[in-house]
Amino acid sequence: MATNDNVEKVIIVGSGPAGWTAAIYAARANLSPLLFAGRPKTIPSTVLPGGQLMLTTEVENYPGFPEGVTGPKLMAYFEQQAVRFDTRIVTDKGLNPDVSNPDDGHSYSYHDCKRVDLSQTPCLVVGEDDTEYRAHSVIIATGATANWMGLENEKRLAMSGGGVSACAVCDGALPAFRDKELAVVGGGDSAVEEASYLAKFASKVYMIVRRDELRASKIMAQRAVDNPKIEFLWNKVVTDVLGKDMITGVTLKDTKTDEVSEQSLGGLFMAIGHTPATGFLEGQLTLDQKKYIKLADPYRSTTSIDGVFGAGDCVDSVYRQAITAAGMGCKAAIDAERYLADKGIE
Ligand code: NDP
Repeated sequence: MATNDNVEKVIIVGSGPAGWTAAIYAARANLSPLLFAGRPKTIPSTVLPGGQLMLTTEVENYPGFPEGVTGPKLMAYFEQQAVRFDTRIVTDKGLNPDVSNPDDGHSYSYHDCKRVDLSQTPCLVVGEDDTEYRAHSVIIATGATANWMGLENEKRLAMSGGGVSACAVCDGALPAFRDKELAVVGGGDSAVEEASYLAKFASKVYMIVRRDELRASKIMAQRAVDNPKIEFLWNKVVTDVLGKDMITGVTLKDTKTDEVSEQSLGGLFMAIGHTPATGFLEGQLTLDQKKYIKLADPYRSTTSIDGVFGAGDCVDSVYRQAITAAGMGCKAAIDAERYLADKGIE
């Protein structure tokens, strides 16, 4: 087990909009931040570490990009900007400011944080290779990951490449799904976005919605309604996923009549919300009922421990936007800077 004698001024855990923005601000405040860029979990390791935006194609609502920008490109820009101001990234090969290339989208600049002990002063942060780092302040910006229904065959087929996925943008364009009848489970903005994306390749996309209305915003919902390839299966829940090596369909139950039916499918995509990536903080920081980090003051980034700050989707179950996450990353860096100044740590 390696130990770094250096005590960092600030360690940032997470590499979505919140983490990179915290790094940009902390770096420009001469705090020389050390950032753990999370290993991609649901997508091939050839793509950049950048959180949920890596699962998005076109981002049309991030200010400053009037023509839109892809999620991976936006995250690569964030990373480049953070590294330009002396952010150090913990990677599998050590500290390596191996800046991601927005054009080819390839990078191996990541390494998970496995464990923290925030009760120690300075805080202890342990990498997945057991290397120990210490820091006077820590910014947690680990985001949130996709939810699954929890059906046995759903998980089995998802893990074996059997046509079940929680990321249409990552997997939907694969040859296995071309010209097939596919389905998306969920009725939120993500479900609409995924269904619209899949409709480019599929012969038809069913949206399986457990109520008789969408949760998605009106403008997004209209996009799905207007798409001739998308058909809604209202008031339906999936009770079983069918297929041995490859999905062949699903069993559906009507939530109003209890009627059971089967729908043949060539692929199934989950879009039923997210869970914050805060498991490694259990017993360390105060979390809320849904396991999001509970902020000590909702207008700031302070948490239940002095010197530990939270930012982005791991503290926010309401807005969950790239721009709000980035704003929270900025607040966390400023809060960390002030905390260090108060402690006389320059
Ligand atoms: P949401 O929580 O908004 O929606 C989840 C959907 O899944 C709901 O329709 C919910 O149903 C359904 N659901 C949940 N659990 C189950 C289950 N076990 N079985 C069947 N259905 C289930 O999550 P999203 O990921 O869609 O969105 C998260 C946030 O991100 C939102 O604030 C959204 O606005 C934002 N977003 C914005 C985008 C954009 O602007 N481009 C794109 C994507 C997301 P019910 O409605 O009945 O609860």
